[in-house]
Amino acid sequence: MPRGKPNPRRINAKLCFGPSHENPTWKNITDFNIVKGRRWYECKSCHAHRRKTRTNYSRVPFERVGFAITELVNRLGKAEASRRIGISKQQISHYCNHDPRWIRKQTAVKILRALSALRATEEVRHKDSIHAGAYLRGIPEKKVTARVHLYKRDGDEQNWKRTANRRISVGVKNPTAARG
Ligand SMILES: [Zn+2]
Repeated sequence: MPRGKPNPRRINAKLCFGPSHENPTWKNITDFNIVKGRRWYECKSCHAHRRKTRTNYSRVPFERVGFAITELVNRLGKAEASRRIGISKQQISHYCNHDPRWIRKQTAVKILRALSALRATEEVRHKDSIHAGAYLRGIPEKKVTARVHLYKRDGDEQNWKRTANRRISVGVKNPTAARG
């Protein structure tokens, strides 16, 4: 292509897969915001849609669902929790390790649904069976007879915190005894 002439193959339009329209839509290139010198991957209306409150894409404080993730992971392990919730294992690890401030509402709803389903069944399963995907492969389930057969015995955060505090208090020497 000779320099200085407009390229006829270049289209001044872009396909937007964003949430503000039902199907992917072709939009003019000027309908996309410029972020750090580049066109944003979604059009202006979708970009704004994600910042609106009370949509599936709006964010909620992570504190509201943090307990649910802890309980799911403690009872099922990360891999099985990711299968039940429908998000990736990496994402779960991110939530467990980094304790973010916000979470997308869509994801929060998924997590709480998975937790309520798990609580309703009241299942107690051997961690080997969960690891092997026994129910998916039709392998007979192992019986839980000891504490080591579970991922973690305490499902909820409160119990976990109590245990952690006890461990800390055991490590600290009694200051009054040391003085005497
Ligand atoms: Zn759009």
